Amino acid sequence: MKPEAIYEDLNVYEINPTTDFKINCETQLVTVQDDGMLPAITAFRLLAAKLKRLGLNNPILLKDCLSFSEAPLEPRIALLRAAVVIGSLLADGIGDAILIRGESGGGQSLRLAYNILQAAGCRSFKTDYVACPSCGRTLFNLQTVTARIKARTEHLKGVKIAIMGCIVNGPGEMADADFGYVGGAPGKINLYVGKTPIKFNIPEAEAVDRLVDLIREHGKWVEPEAKEVTAAVHA
Ligand code: SF4
Repeated sequence: MKPEAIYEDLNVYEINPTTDFKINCETQLVTVQDDGMLPAITAFRLLAAKLKRLGLNNPILLKDCLSFSEAPLEPRIALLRAAVVIGSLLADGIGDAILIRGESGGGQSLRLAYNILQAAGCRSFKTDYVACPSCGRTLFNLQTVTARIKARTEHLKGVKIAIMGCIVNGPGEMADADFGYVGGAPGKINLYVGKTPIKFNIPEAEAVDRLVDLIREHGKWVEPEAKEVTAAVHA
């Protein structure tokens, strides 16, 4: 694993957004300087607002925290902090690069960074899944089926698959999924491409295979590498 950029090589302009500032190069990456008085989200929002007011479009590097001296956090806390700070800013349309510093190692930082970018819809590194929460209408075991579909498809980058328990509300809640696996009747599955139903009343036992066929027919399938096949079989 390696980062896509080294902070020290980027010549990042560190700004205190509570004061006036000037930037001479319109392509220079900017960020909030460490140890400011503001919480990170507030500071980055202020920086983005000031850049906009000055008519500047400099790319912004988001950080999960504004203190580099902190000891690594417990993994779940690092995840939550980075997701809250960076995720909310990305959801607001702020940020062009991200830096994670709360994790204990480079590999963990990179994995968390990729997961946040994927969750925020900025970049796609792996298959995306949307599943309904299940309710009294659910027509199959959502957890088991989701695990089965994941085992077959999680090597597909940039594909979004919805797994919905019923046709009453499922199709309307599949968001922008590329493919949908939806309970049509007890023991029967309907398959969708986008929001369009394509195959109806497939016996549940063969529905995952037919979903793979559908993905293949639409040019989104790639064969898993050997070790991924082994993992899928074990799953
Ligand atoms: S999609 Fe259907 S099964 Fe899933 S939560 Fe909504 S109503 Fe229930």
